[in-house]
Amino acid sequence: MTTTGAAQFIDGAWVDADGGGRWDVIDPATEQIVANVPFGGAADVDRAIDAAHRAFPAWRARTPYDRGAILRRAADLMRARAEQLAELTVREAGKPLAEAVGEWRVSADLFEWFAEEGKRVHGYTLPSRVATKRVMVLKEPIGVVGVITAWNFPAYNPARAVAAALAAGCTVVMRPSELTPLSGMAIAAILQEAGLPAGALDLVNGEPAAMGQAMLDHPHLRKISFTGSVGVGKLLMDGASRTMTRLSLELGGNAPVLVLPDANLEAVARGAVAAKFRNAGQVCVSPQRFFVERQHVRAFEEVVVDEVRKTRIGPLISERHRERVEALIASAVSAGATIRTGGVRPAGPGFFLEPTVLGGVGPTMPASAEEIFGPLFAVTAFDQVDAAIDAANRTRYGLAAYVFTNDLPAAMRAYERLDFGMIGINDWSPQATEAPFSGRKDSGMGHESGHEGLLENLETKLVSFGNVAP
Ligand code: NAD
Repeated sequence: MTTTGAAQFIDGAWVDADGGGRWDVIDPATEQIVANVPFGGAADVDRAIDAAHRAFPAWRARTPYDRGAILRRAADLMRARAEQLAELTVREAGKPLAEAVGEWRVSADLFEWFAEEGKRVHGYTLPSRVATKRVMVLKEPIGVVGVITAWNFPAYNPARAVAAALAAGCTVVMRPSELTPLSGMAIAAILQEAGLPAGALDLVNGEPAAMGQAMLDHPHLRKISFTGSVGVGKLLMDGASRTMTRLSLELGGNAPVLVLPDANLEAVARGAVAAKFRNAGQVCVSPQRFFVERQHVRAFEEVVVDEVRKTRIGPLISERHRERVEALIASAVSAGATIRTGGVRPAGPGFFLEPTVLGGVGPTMPASAEEIFGPLFAVTAFDQVDAAIDAANRTRYGLAAYVFTNDLPAAMRAYERLDFGMIGINDWSPQATEAPFSGRKDSGMGHESGHEGLLENLETKLVSFGNVAP
């Protein structure tokens, strides 16, 4: 089955790939083909960047009120059709329908919020130390922005980067994950319907490395906003060192959860299961390393196992990814960890893996040290809170961290010492449309969402007037 608009979108037209390549989109829950879409390469990226470059002067010249009206219309369309759009996302990503509906509602929030925030781009004037000078600092859209995104949130990942860039007055070449291109294509179709001028948003699908390189190489592409793995983020950084392409990198995470001794253990354990198994654990801020005081570990694990046995989850995105998570479980078990529940594939088609709980996970095991990105709940015992904070920081990642306690000074001590970009205190969802989303260390650089997400798409220009009569 193909969907209307299931193609590349260049200069306002739905088009095939330059070389005629095609690609099957697979439903990870059934392993059936759900769509067949164009699959291009560098030539398609070049065409798209050229179109976005031609569209840039007119788009930047529009007032933010005009641009905002179009983005706002797109938000309204997304919200009105969230259920229908979610079905598309479910087919390509395998996630539960309710999660996909939520994802489209948040995508609508992003377009609505940036439609307004684009009106708040302003510079400032500076008092000069020379009496005859006047100094202004301006913010200008950077130009054509490339958006490359991961498959785990096929609507939200592109929406947050595209909405910010368009609101800032940039034009965009979007390249969704080849595993989940349909939701991105639906975003392009909605923007077209909302009145976005031809070329302001272009969409390509195809060969990852060739398309990334083509974006880096094209002189008219000024910035890449990338959401994905640390490895590919570093590849883009290597490339950008030669081309000076600006980068925002939203990369992987390995979030610690500190369950302090005073916390309500049962409530935290039940909430932890819901948070951990959202999108089958394929979430960059997914709680991963659960640190629980040694004397409470047994009781905590019992509640977790009880809750997990009642939990149903969607499949992983691909066979390759399922094998990766299974290998993490196997290596932990061979190093002394114990499977408390799960760990096996259910019968039937689809890339499913039972939600799994591992006890006795040590900090050097890959199930703790590496990003899992799957349905694996790993518990580690601690003896002393300060040591647990140190262990939480002992990672190359720095995206999200969670603390559960009712002791305010202890919470403050923890959030001040945790070296992560986003901290949830008694909160499994430390992110918001209007707040900056960002990691540090290997988790990336730059920001998405919030006012900071808008600033990523702007450049600063100094204008200095001399010889002004006082
Ligand atoms: P990935 O790095 O394999 O792919 C991400 C995107 O990059 C895809 O569109 C892919 O096709 C493309 N790509 C692959 N190789 C490329 C190359 N050489 N040049 C240019 N583009 C290339 O990651 P993934 O498996 O799709 O996603 C999972 C990762 O994404 C996890 O590490 C997860 O934590 C991370 N992620 C981070 C955030 C965040 O906001 N920090 C959000 C979602 C996902």
